[in-house]
Amino acid sequence: MKKDENSMKPFLEFKVDLENFISDMNDMLEYNNNEIEKLLKQKEKSYKNFVKPIQDLEEKLELLFTPLSHINAVNNTEATQKVYAQSLPIITEYSTKLSQNIEIYNSYKEIQKRESETLNYEQKRVLELNILNFELSGAHLDEKIKSRLQEIEIKKSELSNNFSQNLLDATNDFEYIIEDKKDIEGIPLSDIESAKFEEDGVVKYRFTLQMPSYIAYMTYGKNQTIREILYKAYVTRAPQNAEIIDELLALKDEKSKLLGFENFAQYSLASKMAKDEKSVISFLENLLQNSKKQAKEELQEVQSLSQKPLQSFDSAFYSELLKKAKYEIDEELYRPYFEQTSVVNGMFNFLNKLFGIKFKKTEEKLWDEKANAYDLYLEDKLIARLYTDLEARKGKRGGAWMHNWQAHSRDEKGEEMLASAFIVCNFPASTQTNPSLLRHDDVVTLFHEMGHAIHHLLSKVEESEVSGVNGVEWDAVEFPSQFLENFAYEPQVLKMFANHYKTGEVISDEMIQKLVKSKNFLSASGMLRQLEFSLFDFKLHSKLYSGDEVQALLDSLREDTALIKTPSYNKFQNGFAHIFAGGYSAGYYSYKWAEVLSADTFFSVVDEGIFGSQTAKKYLEIVLKGGGAKSMAELFVELQGREANPDSLLRLNGII
Ligand SMILES: [Zn+2]
Repeated sequence: MKKDENSMKPFLEFKVDLENFISDMNDMLEYNNNEIEKLLKQKEKSYKNFVKPIQDLEEKLELLFTPLSHINAVNNTEATQKVYAQSLPIITEYSTKLSQNIEIYNSYKEIQKRESETLNYEQKRVLELNILNFELSGAHLDEKIKSRLQEIEIKKSELSNNFSQNLLDATNDFEYIIEDKKDIEGIPLSDIESAKFEEDGVVKYRFTLQMPSYIAYMTYGKNQTIREILYKAYVTRAPQNAEIIDELLALKDEKSKLLGFENFAQYSLASKMAKDEKSVISFLENLLQNSKKQAKEELQEVQSLSQKPLQSFDSAFYSELLKKAKYEIDEELYRPYFEQTSVVNGMFNFLNKLFGIKFKKTEEKLWDEKANAYDLYLEDKLIARLYTDLEARKGKRGGAWMHNWQAHSRDEKGEEMLASAFIVCNFPASTQTNPSLLRHDDVVTLFHEMGHAIHHLLSKVEESEVSGVNGVEWDAVEFPSQFLENFAYEPQVLKMFANHYKTGEVISDEMIQKLVKSKNFLSASGMLRQLEFSLFDFKLHSKLYSGDEVQALLDSLREDTALIKTPSYNKFQNGFAHIFAGGYSAGYYSYKWAEVLSADTFFSVVDEGIFGSQTAKKYLEIVLKGGGAKSMAELFVELQGREANPDSLLRLNGII
């Protein structure tokens, strides 16, 4: 009954039945488990009768779950939290069991071998990635190794958790109280207000190691002695993490070896776009050598504002002075040019001129009256749906993101499914009387998320697991988003929509130039810092380091990356949560890696005059329509006929 109605429509209706969600999900999981058992009992397994049906079952589960996690993020209530929290362990248990099912793995291997001549590249990629996932978790190894791997995982997550906890405790434990009003001169009023408290009838100011507070004093605080006290407290947090680092490195090394790799860096690269260790290291070192000259010049410019040689705890302060004097832009002057509706329509217009995509607003009833749905057409054919929810409100998670829902594919019966995705931002709310005026940074954010969204929505791939952003390597995912965000600085593009909302006046070239200059302020110094983190992370995971060797490695890198001598008490590594408590181990380089892909493609399009660019057409056909069905390394070579050139990132940052 209802089912038939739905299959007539290309898009699912957005709804979440909180009351029945858990029982609906349990029903689906039970159904999936039974189906998988039946599928496994088949004598002659093939892609068509085994891989495809499993993929479809997984896809349906995603389709059910995504609206719940979306609504929990954008209209968070006690009810959504409760259902969401209840559903997580259930779904985790189901997926863990599935990812350890050795019968499925063996069947995939057989099918991969038997049908190697007849499968198309999309189907081959689905098998490859599934098999790789099994093998990276060790599901195929003997019981003894498997149980050791499990022990390692449990120990690792415990250690990572302790690492963050130690860091958090140390961050919370420290405070510095200022009583002399002279010492807070120059600090922005809002930061002073946050620091202010009264004790025994005396007004005092509390600065801590927590983010807005610490940064405020380091950037604006005039008293160098206080800056050094804060800095020292910050970079010596959680000394007990040194021991955890040793343990984590040893466990990761052991895990990699059990899985057949020489070291953790190799294990990390197995699922990434970058080919091997050598290509990552030489990539980073090339950027480093080419950024040093300008970084030295930048330092000289900052140094010129101080009588004494700059110390590590001075650089943020003097950089801010320089920025104020030469590079700062006044956001309030820009906002009137970036009225939300005209920015959104201008961006759609730009995408229409660049790729031929048409956006048509639909009258769908959604979760909030400020949310919108648009149907996307390419060559007059309906291809996808985009949901936007751009304004901040109570109960909405902060930040901005793209969340994919449906993926373009053909199901078992050959029926075409269209793609859909959400873009969520937290722009100022519009009212009856006041429009929502964006900062330029917001415009960049919108373009960024839109880059992710069209990567998902324009896919022509027929296998859902490698369609759109599905199956795209971790170090390549940011390529389409960064590619698109670069256009938010292009005069030709900005002038399409940046009109003053009251006077209609178009943004001037001078104002655009200032945006670019302010973006590139101290860009080479920033580059050096990111390269220090990336090289440290990657080399640290390329062989087994322990004890003093960790510090020695960092010191040796700093010979090249740190233009101001770092004090020997600085133990940055004990706070490097990205790699010791997050998912970035031997992967921090990915930020720069994807930026190079995007800068390279961006300049090809710009150098061809943007509209009418051949590279833009090829980007649409190869990268956007190609989704995750081929490695990005392969797609990039198809696009440009060569590998990406790191010089383009230097050019984008104004370094060459
Ligand atoms: Zn992104």
